[in-house]
Amino acid sequence: MIHFDESIALLKQIEVECYKTKKLYLCDALGYVLAEDIVADHNSPAYPTSAMDGYAIRFEDQKRGALKLSSINPAGSGLIDTVKRGECIKTFTGSLMPEGSDTLIPIENVTVEGDTVIINEEVPHGFSVRSVGENYAKDERLIAKGTKVDIAQIGVMASLNIVAPLVFEKPTVSILSTGSELLELGQPQSNEAQIRSSNNYILEAIVKKYDGIPMQLGCMKDDKASIMAAVSAAMEQSDILVTTGGVSVGDFDFVKDVIRELGCEVIFKGVRIKPGQHIMVARKGDKFIIGLPGFAYSSTVTALLYVVPMIAKLQQGKCPLRQVKATLKEPFVKRARKAEFTACNLSLEEGEYVVDFETKKVGTSAILTNMLGDVALLVTSEEDGNKEAGEKVTVLLLN
Ligand code: AMP
Ligand code: MG
Repeated sequence: MIHFDESIALLKQIEVECYKTKKLYLCDALGYVLAEDIVADHNSPAYPTSAMDGYAIRFEDQKRGALKLSSINPAGSGLIDTVKRGECIKTFTGSLMPEGSDTLIPIENVTVEGDTVIINEEVPHGFSVRSVGENYAKDERLIAKGTKVDIAQIGVMASLNIVAPLVFEKPTVSILSTGSELLELGQPQSNEAQIRSSNNYILEAIVKKYDGIPMQLGCMKDDKASIMAAVSAAMEQSDILVTTGGVSVGDFDFVKDVIRELGCEVIFKGVRIKPGQHIMVARKGDKFIIGLPGFAYSSTVTALLYVVPMIAKLQQGKCPLRQVKATLKEPFVKRARKAEFTACNLSLEEGEYVVDFETKKVGTSAILTNMLGDVALLVTSEEDGNKEAGEKVTVLLLN
């Protein structure tokens, strides 16, 4: 078994030969990672532009006290008239500043009598004029390749008339739970030993939430031949296959053997973490298999630790899960000489993150209800010991 840090380093070192890209209609690109730099092809604004409704003037003319209104210049109209000495042109937000003018005096600062505009309050030189390139300059790289498209990126790309940006395809993730005791949603129970599977559904939700495209394969009995067939088919049709169960040391744990027998290269098998120490990560070309343990809490935590970064990696994105510092409100007892990921309640007190374990049960890795509520994962390393109330700790944010 390897150290947790080593497993993360191995995951980071993985090199992917070929990333898939596609063009998407601008607003459908929300949540995708850009596969191209977005570079401005023009200055914005391209001409000096008015930022208020008012009168375009020559700055020095203000000392005359009153100016003659010579014409009107609505937004969207091309430049025709020039502001001459002693004159002004009525100009609106978004209108180009007429030739000859350098300053905009707002409507609020003047009184209009017929075609005479009386200046009540002067403004500084260049007032309310948006200069060429104020927003961005031609050839400026505005958004880097590898950026996840969010609302602002959509707006900026629209301003550049980008109808269909090039993005990395989100990886497809097949999800397969193994275990002869498992019942799928709605499947009738026929004996006491059966349990309802939660793993394949929470995984579908994790994949969806963290930017993959889930392909639900349901549950499968602990039968080596059928697991072999299902794993092999799933690898054909998806970029990542995530399995649960069958990677431990039991007589019916076939998944780990199947992965090896299918000729996959094992990147690691076994990590000193709690929960989920039997985790297995393997690859065959640019297809990846992540074998998660069966316990519900274990498979959830290991999916967050390994599947979520893998989904990000295959689209050249950043892992969306963040770690922050928080203060313990109660002592924490370290249970194993492994990296531990413990469900905790996270809240903000006077702008600082604080952590407690109220209502969290101590028990086996089957306890998934510990993930309910305002949950985060307290992260302690293999080298850490017990922690006192008031100590600063690291937590993995899930929301
Ligand atoms: P395994 O890793 O196959 O040895 O399973 C460990 C434990 O997790 C057993 O108690 C299983 O019943 C339970 N388990 C396995 N698969 C699932 C699942 N899909 N949903 C919920 N619990 C599961
Ligand atoms: Mg099992």
